[in-house]
Amino acid sequence: MRYDLVIRNGHCILPWGEYQTDIGVISGRIASLDVPGDADAGEVIDAKGLHVLPGLIDAHVHLRDPGKPEVESIPTGTKAAVLGGLTTVFDMPNTSPAITTDEMARWKQEYASAESWTDFAFYIGATRDNTPRLGQLEQMDGICAVKVFAGSSTGDLMIEDDAGLEAVMRHGHRRVAYHSEDEYRLQARKGMFSSGQPCSMHMVWRDEECAFLGTRRLMALARKTGRPAHILHTSTAEELHYLQGYRDIATVEVLVNHLTQVAPDCYDQLGSLAVMNPPIRDRRHYEAAWKAVADGTIDVVSSDHAPHSLEAKARPWPDCPAGLTGIQTIVPVMLSHVSAGRLSLGRLADLMASGPARVYGLQAKGRIAAGYDADFTIVDMKARQTITNDRIVTPAGWTPFDGMEIIGWPVMTIIRGQIVMRDDTVCGEPRGQLARFTP
Ligand SMILES: [Zn+2]
Repeated sequence: MRYDLVIRNGHCILPWGEYQTDIGVISGRIASLDVPGDADAGEVIDAKGLHVLPGLIDAHVHLRDPGKPEVESIPTGTKAAVLGGLTTVFDMPNTSPAITTDEMARWKQEYASAESWTDFAFYIGATRDNTPRLGQLEQMDGICAVKVFAGSSTGDLMIEDDAGLEAVMRHGHRRVAYHSEDEYRLQARKGMFSSGQPCSMHMVWRDEECAFLGTRRLMALARKTGRPAHILHTSTAEELHYLQGYRDIATVEVLVNHLTQVAPDCYDQLGSLAVMNPPIRDRRHYEAAWKAVADGTIDVVSSDHAPHSLEAKARPWPDCPAGLTGIQTIVPVMLSHVSAGRLSLGRLADLMASGPARVYGLQAKGRIAAGYDADFTIVDMKARQTITNDRIVTPAGWTPFDGMEIIGWPVMTIIRGQIVMRDDTVCGEPRGQLARFTP
């Protein structure tokens, strides 16, 4: 038996626990978890002292492509992803133009297949016009889910009313991903605020009830229709508790920001660079999010990487756009939480590999197991690094974590047996492929 690649001596995060073992790769797939010492190999990586995780996935990014290459694009965003230890990303549809038609989906399939550094999947945006076709659109290659903006969007992409949401749920059968903030409450409260107020007003405007009301409405409709739902960026203690009663139809995402930053400090320190939707809230919600990591409520942790230029961010609140960069920093920041004892590497692999695979029906990825794609994130839990703006390759060029000292760092990214990042340097050419899903 000749292996293309053997990873020796690593502490491997297998689905059934952490073991020091040797992983053999043939033709881009995991061929063995017990490679004989004298086995023939094209390349050998000595992972002594390192941890080998299943390839980590960021299931929620906005790569702004097409539309804003000066801020981000698929080539730059996926390069940032592999530098940050990610092997697959799921990209959102609210681009210009939006990804809501067969034609735009085909364009994205071809473009991402040529230009993405990571393996790649993308959402199809739900509109009132395309609702009858969603059952077909969700079956296209590379589609991870239908995305519905039930609030907080513009133009065609918003479906805020119960009848419109129910119609989406009645077309197609795969799990639907929701931005859950109640648009009516958001609009009703907007007039209470004025330009130039402190950025901390963002969480007062978009209060807990905006998110919780949106989620209650979605759960009522999901129960009524039986359509599985994924609540993106859950941000309140109330929702995290409530969703435990809906595990028959609902899965739950929380963002790294809501596990890392706390109001009002984040607004005092970062101003508009902390403004995102749903907002970063106070310590009660931060603690509820960590409790939900510990008790299994949360299925997926993502970045919601949503870059804006510093010029746009410099506008006074609420005219500054909401959204932060995060694709390059999510793995280091989560590793720092592991180092601080807030979760285990096994739980991190659950939240960023097997969790996204389970929620979206991703095939042949998300676990280290024979026959699966040979995607690995290799990390050095002893490494000490500092996140800085000048390390960010996203053209927007900034991170809300500038200056954050990290213990634990991704040192190698391997996708289908190919080393694409080693010691903070990308290797080779973009060779990403479309991810595959259960139909
Ligand atoms: Zn988003």
